[in-house]
Amino acid sequence: MAKKPTAAAAAPATPLLTCTPKRLPRELWIPAAAQATAINPNNHPPLERLARVMRFTPTPDRIAVLTTKRWHTAGVHLTVGFLDNPPADLRKRIIQHMNAWAKTANVQFKESSHNPQVRIARVGGQDGGYWSYLGTDILSIPAAEATMNLEAFTMSTPESEFHRVVRHETGHTLGFPHEHMRKELVARIDPKKAIAFFGATQGWSPAEVKQQVLTPLEESSLLGTVPPDPNSIMCYQIPGTITKDGLPIIGGIDIDPTDFAFAAKIYPKKLL
Ligand SMILES: [Zn+2]
Repeated sequence: MAKKPTAAAAAPATPLLTCTPKRLPRELWIPAAAQATAINPNNHPPLERLARVMRFTPTPDRIAVLTTKRWHTAGVHLTVGFLDNPPADLRKRIIQHMNAWAKTANVQFKESSHNPQVRIARVGGQDGGYWSYLGTDILSIPAAEATMNLEAFTMSTPESEFHRVVRHETGHTLGFPHEHMRKELVARIDPKKAIAFFGATQGWSPAEVKQQVLTPLEESSLLGTVPPDPNSIMCYQIPGTITKDGLPIIGGIDIDPTDFAFAAKIYPKKLL
């Protein structure tokens, strides 16, 4: 979890919190993967190719880990609720930024107080920070619990943070995971601290941390089919506690043209 800087005397500076990916508890991985594949069959991993490249045996656990969590290709229309009753202008502003993805994609977020599918909290502390569950995984979260957290967001939060944070977390809700980072950013990470941090927050093995966080996109693109975008809003965000210089890596700061094109391809406005 990202540590906030100690509050200074006068006006509280905006804490540069980073996103900590949120995963379901392990016992839900297999049912949630089955649900994701039922919603969009393309979520099932291309196992033969992956098994060959990564030299693993496709067990149910492995399949679950590699299953993507995108919504149906016909579009993402989700209702949004707030768990702590924020003022109407803030609710409207957050939902407007969530709908920024609708510029090119068939995506619609609508406020509702009746069993909302996306549930936003603004808590700090142990569950604080910025996070969202990934895509169809939000359906596995109990109805009283948040699927997204925007710690301490108010109408006084700078507009740039709505672009950087709300749009990024909404990307997760749309089923987009973190992208790898550029070589020069990966070089700023302390590998030992990263292994400890992601082990504690994600339950990843050292090998998984290496693959997910410590492999620059120049190398990871060997495995991908789409060339990665270094300025993507979905680039990894890294807390200052695990960088060599103690400064956070905040990644992309807004949805960029490649993100918009990608969203349009995954959730096209017109089905061919
Ligand atoms: Zn994130």
